[in-house]
Amino acid sequence: MSVAVAPAGADPALEVADLDFSYSGKPILKQVGFSVAQGGFAVLLGPNGAGKTTLFSLITRLYDRRVGTIRVGGCDVRDLSTAALGQMGVVFQQPTLDLDLTVRQNLAYHAALHGMSTRTARRQADEQVERLGLGDHLRRRVRELSGGQRRRVEIARGLLHRPRLLLLDEPTVGLDVASRRGIVEHAHRLSHDDGVAVLWATHLIDEVHATDQVIVLDRGCVRADGGVADIQAATGTATIADAFDVLTEAGHA
Ligand code: ADP
Ligand code: MG
Repeated sequence: MSVAVAPAGADPALEVADLDFSYSGKPILKQVGFSVAQGGFAVLLGPNGAGKTTLFSLITRLYDRRVGTIRVGGCDVRDLSTAALGQMGVVFQQPTLDLDLTVRQNLAYHAALHGMSTRTARRQADEQVERLGLGDHLRRRVRELSGGQRRRVEIARGLLHRPRLLLLDEPTVGLDVASRRGIVEHAHRLSHDDGVAVLWATHLIDEVHATDQVIVLDRGCVRADGGVADIQAATGTATIADAFDVLTEAGHA
């Protein structure tokens, strides 16, 4: 399997440092720091309530008050938010497609928000949708599609403006095994073949591939960050599932 290599001297696709965040005085993220290389695939692995969605909300600037820095392709999301946001594609935890619009209309609307011309938008939409095996569905209303197809439309939408970083928040929850596998594989291809860096938030350990960077987040703290083999070695475990148990139990002790 190929491993993406960042160009020499390139800024990481995503860099988070010393990030603290509280809801109404309750600390949710504590000194969170990690980076994802250009074209890298990083799994943000954490149980429910770990702070994954909160972290995504900070990266995408839905929330702002915080201590620490977040850089996307070297741009601080605070200082250069338009430039930084333009480099990012996002698939949120809760689906955000308009069910009564067709696939093409949903994509065209998003493209317009990114200031793309109609012709470019159409070309990009056709390309992304084709790659995701949805070419026959462009004219169908989203309401008629399965859960897995809707998720793939959201991924296509997140890629329309050719971002360098794609954030996906629990994109396979509620899907059947075949749909889940297809989406995990597609995201890996984006990283390995197209050089799009991916941050994939999940609580599902079986979605981790052997070549992934794994960032274990538990109760707002990064408990481990590295390759699968490194994390297993550091915890004296034989599988990433066992490593995850050790790391999250240690956090609860
Ligand atoms: P995850 O996505 O990993 O499941 P979240 O980021 O959704 O975790 O939640 C992290 C913590 O923040 C949880 O304890 C959750 O209850 C709390 N939380 C999430 N949203 C809010 C909110 N709007 N107000 C207060 N607490 C919140
Ligand atoms: Mg979440």
